[in-house]
Amino acid sequence: NTEDIKILLLENVNQTGIDILKNQGYQVEFQKASLPEDQLIEKIRDVHVIGIRSKTKLTEKVLREAKNLLVIGCFCIGTNQVDLEYAAKQGIAVFNSPFANSRSVAELVIAEIITLARQLGDRSNEMHRGTWNKVSAKCWEVRGKTLGIVGYGHIGSQLSVLAEAMGMSVIYYDVVSLMAIGTARQVPTLEALLQEADFVSLHVPETPETKNMVSNKQFEQMKNGSYLINASRGTVVDIPALVKAMRAGKVAGAALDVYPNEPAGNGDYFTSDLNHWAEELRTLNNIILTPHIGGSTEEAQRAIGVEVADALVRYINQGTTLGSVNLPEVNMRSLTLDEPNHARIIYIHRNVPGVLRRVNEVLGDHNVDKQISDSKGDIAYLLADVSDVKPDDIKEIRDNLEALSSRILTRVLY
Ligand code: NAD
Repeated sequence: NTEDIKILLLENVNQTGIDILKNQGYQVEFQKASLPEDQLIEKIRDVHVIGIRSKTKLTEKVLREAKNLLVIGCFCIGTNQVDLEYAAKQGIAVFNSPFANSRSVAELVIAEIITLARQLGDRSNEMHRGTWNKVSAKCWEVRGKTLGIVGYGHIGSQLSVLAEAMGMSVIYYDVVSLMAIGTARQVPTLEALLQEADFVSLHVPETPETKNMVSNKQFEQMKNGSYLINASRGTVVDIPALVKAMRAGKVAGAALDVYPNEPAGNGDYFTSDLNHWAEELRTLNNIILTPHIGGSTEEAQRAIGVEVADALVRYINQGTTLGSVNLPEVNMRSLTLDEPNHARIIYIHRNVPGVLRRVNEVLGDHNVDKQISDSKGDIAYLLADVSDVKPDDIKEIRDNLEALSSRILTRVLY
């Protein structure tokens, strides 16, 4: 029953998310702050769902106490604050919101393209120091210039649309072949992109392949006087190589929103204790340095609230795991709970040989309309819709599945 579901929301998650969960009839408790570990442990014992942002650490120690917990909603992008593997082993699904801020990042990059082309950061800094310095040399319009987008995913493709609207030509490089939006054009290699682009903007994930993807060799391949923007991940650009390219005048400006090592919180200093080149970077001209704010807007927070709350509702009411970061993704048509004598079985189990045979021995006496299962490492997730079942049958199915040695968690929706 939805009204039996108890939810604890911490860290001031967005109102959009709270509304969606309350509208389902769940019992929702909301707190503005995160909780100290002892209070968190006390509270988590009782709830089926917990919603957090980045400050609440859901370690093994905390999760061990969470006997009723079904699912964790991270109302943010990152999930390092949760012990994902331990959660999976307990059959606790974890959801986050990786794409709700794509538009915000794309808009920031648009702002940076013009800011770099017009040296706005430097002019503004000079005025703040009281200096009037009117210049037009090496200041450009962006109309007719070429933007090279590296990584044409959620953010890269949004950026493509916005840049074309300002009259830029767009080319992109991606490891997969992707349909161009508007009149953008895919190029076959990173080198081809670097040779042609006036502005290069990076939108790839952090992977071993993208580590120092832009380094000395790539700066040499770039056009003289071109610009580099990185709002992806700090590991993607070799910063000492960037410093060298900017000092040599090869790169006329850069914008960095992300860094290999980032301070833990607001007010912390960005110094060479963190990144040995930090002070040197700060002395360069026409470089915009921002503290990882690409996705930080009110709209993105609202969208995160909706995206995560929707995923939680789907998981609680339907058992589908689409978008889960730690369980296999299994999706099935919406369950209509008013169908009589119908039930959906959710069986989370260890991925060991012979399990499905035993599960099917349990389900086999009934009419299985549809069954899907998938695994991720040691953990497997099975969904089965059965019809023509009476309450006694449902109890028997549940008890028999619970008795299997592979069992992690069994839920039956009916
Ligand atoms: P996405 O997964 O939608 O797109 C990434 C694209 O990069 C994909 O098309 C993929 O095929 C491509 N790609 C992967 N490896 C590649 C490689 N080696 N060479 C070329 N292309 C490659 O991701 P997204 O949501 O667009 O995010 C892009 C980046 O932006 C990520 O690193 C993400 O962490 C970062 N991000 C930053 C902020 C911020 O605040 N600055 C906010 C959100 C996301």
